[in-house]
Amino acid sequence: MAAAAELAAAGHRVTVFEASRTLGGRARAIELEGLTVDNGAHIFVGAYRETLRLMARVGADPERLLRRRALHLEYPGELCIAAPRLPAPLHLAWALLAASGLSWSEKFAAIRFMQGLKRANFRLPRDIAAAEYFHRQRQPERLVRYLWEPLCVAALNTPIERASMQVFANVLKDSLAAGRAASDFLLPTVDFSRLFPEPAAAFVIAHGGEVCRETRIDAITRTIDGFRLDAKGTKCGPYDKVILAVAPRHLPKLVAGLPELAAIVAQVNGFEWEPIVGVYLAYPEDVRLPFAMVGVANGTAQWLFDRGQIYGQPGLISAVISAHGRHEAMDHDALVAAIHAEVTRILPGIEAPRWSRVITEKRATFACTPGVARPPTLTPLPGLLLAGDYVAGDYPATIEGAVRSGIKAARALLGEPGGAPRE
Ligand SMILES: Cc1cc2nc3c(=O)[nH]c(=O)nc-3n(C[C@H](O)[C@H](O)[C@H](O)COP(=O)(O)OP(=O)(O)OC[C@H]3O[C@@H](n4cnc5c(N)ncnc54)[C@H](O)[C@@H]3O)c2cc1C
Repeated sequence: MAAAAELAAAGHRVTVFEASRTLGGRARAIELEGLTVDNGAHIFVGAYRETLRLMARVGADPERLLRRRALHLEYPGELCIAAPRLPAPLHLAWALLAASGLSWSEKFAAIRFMQGLKRANFRLPRDIAAAEYFHRQRQPERLVRYLWEPLCVAALNTPIERASMQVFANVLKDSLAAGRAASDFLLPTVDFSRLFPEPAAAFVIAHGGEVCRETRIDAITRTIDGFRLDAKGTKCGPYDKVILAVAPRHLPKLVAGLPELAAIVAQVNGFEWEPIVGVYLAYPEDVRLPFAMVGVANGTAQWLFDRGQIYGQPGLISAVISAHGRHEAMDHDALVAAIHAEVTRILPGIEAPRWSRVITEKRATFACTPGVARPPTLTPLPGLLLAGDYVAGDYPATIEGAVRSGIKAARALLGEPGGAPRE
């Protein structure tokens, strides 16, 4: 949708084919017990520059649709790091120095860590696992557990033992180390389909384009006059330019008839995958977490979100569990019981949830490991481009990564500066 909106904004009539009825892909709205929720708890950070720009461009006002909160990591009763409304970099220094629950040596270690990365301009001579880097930088165990690990896993969806430190450094550069607003958390006040994909679809249509839902493309063939797309036995096209913006797991089947893309398919088939589990717990309406977003250290969940405070769904708490971990050995009931116990640690004495749901996305993202090879925007076939969170770029598999890749593909297709160079 980012690629389509960017092309529509440049005056092009675009046709979007989407397999599902709901727009949004891995960040979409679903219905649970009569409530509209997301397929998993998602957040933005202020560093999502291109996403915010494109939202505004398609008429989805970020100020109205996202609630901005200054960086605030809260582990109730254990630790709190909160950035004050000071200009950068004072906001970060102050947040670390004033943090409760960290010793002075831990605070100075965190500041030393950020300064070291900044001196190196956030470039590592050689990419290594984040855990190894924390160890080499003599980061205390509690600092890793409460600060670096939760941030790294949330951004890269990969356990720190296997996560790319270079990609984590890219994220830190754009967020914690950038202007104060870049490290803000932006909590969506509407579901993810309404946040960007639906307004983007309306924008594409208003610019003479088309959005064909429930239209899965089964195959792509190359003809003398361009590319034909096979949808439900009907050949659409020819199109002289096509951007493939499917999830990486859908790519190999889609391009099976294009031998020129064999090397890209091999790359994608070589990815390892990381899951994301979302758990919804419905409590009585007066149940409220002390903050809209709360960290859980040493827990099954990593973050708890109070949907009453964010979306006006009082009593509904969602938990997120990123990446592989011991929770994968637990069945649904055990998972719900474990997360209920974690909520009870914060709100002692609350009764069991009235209902609960577990949503598992097994291949939520590719594992963002050191030096992982990601395919480029341009394919060996002129006119056929790739977009998506897995395509080569500085960002891990995130909404901003996907949006940047979509914009890059659109600009490359238009031959604009800032598009993809010949890779
Ligand atoms: C549970 C969960 C939580 C997450 N949390 C966050 C978060 O908090 N912050 C964040 O930034 N990121 C988060 N992410 C990651 C983020 O959602 C993804 O990186 C992003 O949505 C990827 O976008 P994409 O456009 O590359 O791919 P997708 O979202 O997968 O979109 C691909 C689209 O292609 C369609 N499609 C596939 N095959 C075909 C076909 N043959 N024909 C037509 N259409 C087809 C699909 O239906 C889909 O709509 C999360 C992901 C998950 C799963």
